[in-house]
Order: sequence, then structure tokens, then C-alpha cells
Amino acid sequence: AKSRGTGSYAFFDDQLRASAVEQLKVTTDLTESLDDHEFELYYQSIIDVATGETAAFEALIRWHHDGIVHPPEYFIPIAESSDIIIDIGRWALGRACEQLAQWRNAIDGGNQAVSVNLSARQLRDVDFVSTVTDTLAAYGLPASALWLELTETALIDDDDIALTILEQLSSLGVTICIDDFGIGYSALGNLNKYPIDVVKIDKSFIAALGTQDEGDPKHHVLVTSIEAMSTALGLITVAEGVESADQLEQVKAIGCQFAQGWLFGMPLPMMQPWTDHVRPASQ
Ligand code: C2E
Ligand code: CA
Ligand code: CA
Ligand code: CA
Repeated sequence: AKSRGTGSYAFFDDQLRASAVEQLKVTTDLTESLDDHEFELYYQSIIDVATGETAAFEALIRWHHDGIVHPPEYFIPIAESSDIIIDIGRWALGRACEQLAQWRNAIDGGNQAVSVNLSARQLRDVDFVSTVTDTLAAYGLPASALWLELTETALIDDDDIALTILEQLSSLGVTICIDDFGIGYSALGNLNKYPIDVVKIDKSFIAALGTQDEGDPKHHVLVTSIEAMSTALGLITVAEGVESADQLEQVKAIGCQFAQGWLFGMPLPMMQPWTDHVRPASQ
């Protein structure tokens, strides 16, 4: 038994080493990828439930590398372990604003926003606010055209830098969204402490709504409570991961102002005509 134990330790050790080597390779490859134009943003509509119109497009990053389109789960956590995420984040912000400016020009009177995901490290970057103002100015966009999404994990290190940055962004008129609300680390006090405008209710709650007849009533209570609390605090809610008409009916009845999910469309790359991104809810 003892020798087997030793053997499995050796095996475990090899695995760890392999994953450390893999991580290092990905880190090196990521640094080169910005120059090599290997990143791309996909966009998914955030729909105003009352009108069925697109209020914003969420930008979701992809990495074209080694002949594969890698999802963000594969490389964002690795990028987040170093300052590479600052450069990737700056690229994503710039690309999203550039694309939005093109769309707003193409759509007569287009006033959609673009919603960009942030990592914790970007909220510790003292240059972040000027990066945002410079980017908006470069593409002639008002601050109201930009939504920024952060998870509560990004607020865990209670060092006031994030608070200062978010307050500056908020006073500029940028919309601040709490992403994946209700899962993992969650402190309700965050909703008052930080200048938050939008609560994105995590898709796991919406999935658990199921169908009106067969869904979990407890999850209906949770979504209803999050919506009621948000509305009472003057915040807007987005139901994430809406996949069925039944779920849409429920989040509509509950009072969520916005909805997002496969029911309205998958995230699509920008070469698609913009009309594909603003497909109304009825189609
Ligand atoms: P997220 O911000 O919560 O984004 C929503 C995820 O749900 C996306 O996955 C989207 O494709 C997926 N989704 C959309 N509609 C539905 C639906 O109806 N059902 C289900 N089951 N899923 C749906 P994706 O694109 O793989 O992104 C994963 C995560 O990666 C994002 O989660 C976000 O946290 C992160 N991410 C994406 N782009 C960026 C970025 O530019 N910067 C940073 N820091 N993180 C990013
Ligand atoms: Ca998001
Ligand atoms: Ca989310
Ligand atoms: Ca509401």
C-alpha cells in the first residue's frame, strides 16, 4: 500500500508540473497574442423586456489560438494571475467601443450601449479611469454608451481603490453592473457601498426557474426577492441566461427590466451584420 501511495504522489506531482508548464506556455502565448490579433469579441444582445429592443451588447472575448477558438474560461483565469489581463482588458475596451461606434453610426439614431467585462486587477489599475475617458473620446462616444460589468469577487479586497475608481466612473456617467449576482461571495452591503446601477441576476437562478409548471418555486422566490430589493434600491435588473419563452414570461412578470440569453441569440462575432444582433424577441 505504501509503494502505491508513493506512486500516486509521483503521479500527482507530474500532473501538477504539467499544469504549471501548461500555464506558463499559455501565459507566454497570451502576451504575444495581442500583437498577433488572436483575440476577438463576440456580442450578445441585452434586451429591454418591455420593448423587445436591444439596450446594450455584451462583449465576450474569444481567443483564436492553435487552430481552436478558446472560451474565456480557458485563458482569462490565467491572464488574471498577471498584469497581462490589464493589456487584454484595455484591448477589449477599445475594440468594444470601436465596434459600438460603428454600429451606432449604422443604425439611424442608434443609442445602444456596449457592456464590457472587467477583472479585479483592472479595478486596482490607477490608470483605468483615464483609459476609459481616452477610449470614449477616441470613438466619440458618450459615457452613457458604456456599461462595465464586475463580479463581487472584484470587490473583495476592501482597499478603497476599487471604490474610488468606480465612483469616478459613475460620476462620468458610465453604468456599473454587478455580474453573476447571487452566487459565490455576495455581500448585500456592496449594493449600497459601491455606485452600482445594474444587477445582473446569475443565469443559474433563471435556469432553475424551469417551466412555469415544473420549475422550482424556491428559485422563483429568489429571483422575485432579488428583483424587489434591487428596485427598492433604485437599481435595474438583467435576467441572465434566458433560454425559453417561458422563462422570459416569468422574468417579465417578476419585473426584470432587461433580459439576455440564447432565446434572443447566441453571442456572435462582429462580422455578422448588426441586424443579427438586434433580432427582436419575437423571432
Ligand atoms: P459572463 O459575463 O457571465 O457572460 C455570460 C456567459 O453566459 C457567456 O459565456 C455567454 O456566452 C453565456 N450565455 C449567454 N446566454 C446564455 C444562455 O442563455 N444560457 C447559458 N447557459 N449561457 C449563456 P462566455 O462567453 O463563455 O463567457 C464566460 C465568462 O468569461 C463571462 O461570463 C465573463 O465572466 C468572462 N469574460 C468574457 N469576456 C471577458 C472579457 O473581455 N474580460 C474578462 N475579464 N472576462 C470576460
Ligand atoms: Ca458579464
Ligand atoms: Ca453573468
Ligand atoms: Ca423592476
